[in-house]
Amino acid sequence: MSKSIELAIIGSGIAGVSAAVYARRSGLDFVIFEEKGIGGQLLLMENIDNYVGLPLNTKGNDLAKELATTLEDLEIRPINQGITKIKMDEKAAILQAKDCDYKAKSLIVASGASFRRLGVSGETEFLGKGVSYCAVCDGFFFKGKDVAVIGGGNTAVEEALYLSEIANRVTLVHRRDQLRAIEYLQKDLFKKPNIEVLFDSVVKEIKGSELMGEVIIENTKSRREQSLSLQGLFIAIGISPNTDIFADSVSVDKDGFIVTDEHMRTSCEFVWAAGDCRKRPLRQLITAASEGAIATMSVYKYLRGHYISS
Ligand code: NAP
Repeated sequence: MSKSIELAIIGSGIAGVSAAVYARRSGLDFVIFEEKGIGGQLLLMENIDNYVGLPLNTKGNDLAKELATTLEDLEIRPINQGITKIKMDEKAAILQAKDCDYKAKSLIVASGASFRRLGVSGETEFLGKGVSYCAVCDGFFFKGKDVAVIGGGNTAVEEALYLSEIANRVTLVHRRDQLRAIEYLQKDLFKKPNIEVLFDSVVKEIKGSELMGEVIIENTKSRREQSLSLQGLFIAIGISPNTDIFADSVSVDKDGFIVTDEHMRTSCEFVWAAGDCRKRPLRQLITAASEGAIATMSVYKYLRGHYISS
């Protein structure tokens, strides 16, 4: 089966949902694909405390539910299928889903990003047996245990703070002598009596038998190794864009993030990108939502030759 549409939106995180809301308002004939639940990375967030208009400490899950309600209210029914293949012809994107092919005159890629891997021995072997990429999802299993968080960005510090309320002891391991995380998070971090920070330190190996039990850390300056006895290891070293299937069709940077102009348009004239899959200066929910809106309005102009007044 094959269907022709004006716009396809891939991804139903905040960028994709925002794009869909604007597509509905603009009267475009569109579909939105979701694969792992509406909300994307929101589903993995504990607290949101920097989205204007939302109360402090709003739960990621709660905002994801609101997004789902918004779609329902606008009678937008996401297609719950991943796109397995994509092909560009001269004027359209041909998207292959499980049950149907879609020929879309325009495409917004809002496919988000996934957790970056450390690439050390034991990381894959002990995944789900001590190793995790999401404190909000798995922290509960480490009540009263000793855990470590790897990374020095906002996510790592937020995860360390979250885990400090559950675990016995948290060690934050960062490869440099300075954290990247925003100052107010660092202030909270250094106030916590059960968090220790190891600077200039990297993971060499993750060991255990059935479950993970030991992590070998190397000091990058002294080259000295130490063994930490740990039950949990939370890896929070950033994100990789979910752009593999688009990388042949649009320009991406060295890390795979899609390059766009200020209208979110990519190197392909009928493809736009928004949110964490895109090379962007500020990775925030609020910028992702805004990029989704900009992308759709730019698509509208492309398809109809003019902007609508908002
Ligand atoms: P990030 O800001 O890119 O930080 C990644 C951290 O992991 C950095 O400290 C980096 O070290 C370290 N790292 C990277 N590769 C590594 C490796 N192979 N081995 C060891 N360490 C490694 O990623 P993030 O913290 O996940 O945040 C992603 C984006 O979301 C950021 O733009 C962030 O601001 C945003 N975010 C915002 C909030 C908030 O506003 N509350 C919360 C979470 C995330 P270096 O410092 O040495 O590069």
